[in-house]
Amino acid sequence: MTLRDLAGIGPKRALAFAALEIATPRDLLEHFPFRYDDLREATPSVTLGTRGGEENAVGTAIAVRERRARNIEIVEVDLRDESGVFRAKWIGRNRYAIGRFKNGMRLFVRGRVERSLAGPVVSVSTYRILGPDETYRGALVPVYHAVAELPSKTIAAAIARNFPRLLEEAPADPIPPAYLRATGYESLEVAYRNIHAPDSPEQAQRARERFAYGEFLVHAFASLRRRALRSLERGAEAMSDAQESVDRLERNLPFPLTGAQRRVIGEIARDLAGAMPMNRLVQGDVGSGKTLVAAAAILVAARNNVQSALMAPTELLALQHAQKLGPLLVPFGIAVEPILGSQRASERKEALRRLASGEAAVAVGTHALLTESTEFMRLGLVVIDEQHRFGVEQRARLRAKGGTPHTLHLTATPIPRTLAQTLLAGLDISSIDELPPGRTPIETFVLRMSRLERAYRFIRERVERDGQQAYVVCAAIESDEEEGMGPIGAVEEAARVAAGPLAGLRVGLLHGRMSSELKDRTMKRFSAGEIDVLVATTVVEVGVDVPNAVVMLVLDAHRYGLAQLHQLRGRVGRGGSASYCLLVHPDDAPQSARLEFLLKSTDGFAIAERDLELRGGGQLAGLLQSGRSGMRYGDPIADRPLFLAAAAVAREIFDRDPELREPGNAGLRSALLAEQNLRDLQLSS
Ligand code: ADP
Ligand code: MG
Repeated sequence: MTLRDLAGIGPKRALAFAALEIATPRDLLEHFPFRYDDLREATPSVTLGTRGGEENAVGTAIAVRERRARNIEIVEVDLRDESGVFRAKWIGRNRYAIGRFKNGMRLFVRGRVERSLAGPVVSVSTYRILGPDETYRGALVPVYHAVAELPSKTIAAAIARNFPRLLEEAPADPIPPAYLRATGYESLEVAYRNIHAPDSPEQAQRARERFAYGEFLVHAFASLRRRALRSLERGAEAMSDAQESVDRLERNLPFPLTGAQRRVIGEIARDLAGAMPMNRLVQGDVGSGKTLVAAAAILVAARNNVQSALMAPTELLALQHAQKLGPLLVPFGIAVEPILGSQRASERKEALRRLASGEAAVAVGTHALLTESTEFMRLGLVVIDEQHRFGVEQRARLRAKGGTPHTLHLTATPIPRTLAQTLLAGLDISSIDELPPGRTPIETFVLRMSRLERAYRFIRERVERDGQQAYVVCAAIESDEEEGMGPIGAVEEAARVAAGPLAGLRVGLLHGRMSSELKDRTMKRFSAGEIDVLVATTVVEVGVDVPNAVVMLVLDAHRYGLAQLHQLRGRVGRGGSASYCLLVHPDDAPQSARLEFLLKSTDGFAIAERDLELRGGGQLAGLLQSGRSGMRYGDPIADRPLFLAAAAVAREIFDRDPELREPGNAGLRSALLAEQNLRDLQLSS
């Protein structure tokens, strides 16, 4: 059956559906509302406006006023219901309301309500003219993502009209019947109905939870299977003499490895010794010395005549990596080859040649390294720094280049164990949970907005007296003027401080809407000391090292997750000087106690756990993107208990029936087979 076989969908409408990526009846069935408008109850006029949010009202028109001011038309209708009088107001540019309403008409209206001296006024967002004797019967109206040619109402109608036929196209239920009984969830058919046409918000919510649960089950099972498969994989370079290489590296260092570095390097060395491809995540707080760990792995590889590729999220970071790795590896005769877009063509060509011939052992770049033109003689190790979205497709491209390389992921965002074990079951995890000794701790302060100007005076002093630098981080690119209450924008703040509290200093601006060249150039200027104070959005979060930057000022700090603030804090304290992190929140912001956790703790792991408890993770969501790619209904972080429950069930099923041959597991099996992202699971169909 195709979309066009459905009642009310012709070629033209089918095209409009295609714009919403709805190509089949199943797509339509799975196009869930993103919210519901509650039109069930009309509020009596006496209580209108006491509740907040949009409200519904029904009344009979007793006065109609229409006027036009420039292009804007304003229509006001006074309405009477049993308890009194209220006013409905339409303001618009598109001449839809003028001439529509007459005294004596019965109207249903919905909108935000303000109470004025003249009584409640509804700013109408939805309305309907009721027949003279029509009793108002409201419903919970599903609201769908829509396009102009295909409004939500039309989508709702198409679903309602064809519902039984759509159900025939429903996928099999991934939840095995026995578990369905145990959880008490409704059948799949009922769940679809309750999503598209619920009787109550609770019903819709429960149906949504059911779909999330099914999805979690699929993904948790996939993780288990992936891990099992990986343990059977072979074909990576099995390297020898790892410990000797590490000892030599350490003898060349001006300091001993920390205990944690030594342990993690040991874990990696064991992986590298085998033909099963390593797939390991190293998590370690900013400054914990991850570069050295990567260098050790690269050295082991190079001494086995195996090439490595290191990828960073930006060109500048790649360059910085190359600069840090060079001195560590050059003593061993290992050439580090940066491959950068900013290189001259001839330079780049020469670098590529050295990689292809095997003269160079290490390539460092962004994921442009994966493009066709980079050829390796014998690529056996891939190190991926802070690239959380490194997906299946990129991995496949890598495979095409280097057979089955060992992969090492580095991240400064620690993932709490409970989640990591289930979500990232395809990855092994090592933690560098110790900082090198002798760090000057960063002094952290939580300040109210009324102290902001003092904070800027402090920054000015650092710059003028010691030639040091500072970051100012804003939660938005631009201030939202209409809101008035929104976060301060980087653009406005940069302009304001350059003219005001930091006048005379060199103030720079950096945000995500700038081109990557401009971003790179700005960061380089900051890095070179040509900018004193960098006003930025969180793009600086995974930033380069600027040891001379000693102040991190974060505005609207209450809007961030603790883990993210900790990450931002890690941008300073990278040189020997005393460093400061100033967290500013509005005078009336609640929850400053939350921020104070950062005064107490500098342990990234503890902070991440705390963050998860407090607000379900924020930044972790991004980190885990690759671990949960393709999830539509649920968020394993926000719905952590549900996710962990589903993961436990997946484990039970996997232990008993890893190939999913039991009839009761057929639905789970077909869900796994249907999922594009899970093609690598090798379930026989
Ligand atoms: P990150 O984990 O943030 O990537 P880096 O690898 O950049 O950390 O290391 C931060 C700094 O700590 C570097 O200047 C590095 O030379 C230094 N460092 C790394 N390991 C040690 C150690 N064992 N003892 C002392 N300093 C170290
Ligand atoms: Mg680093």
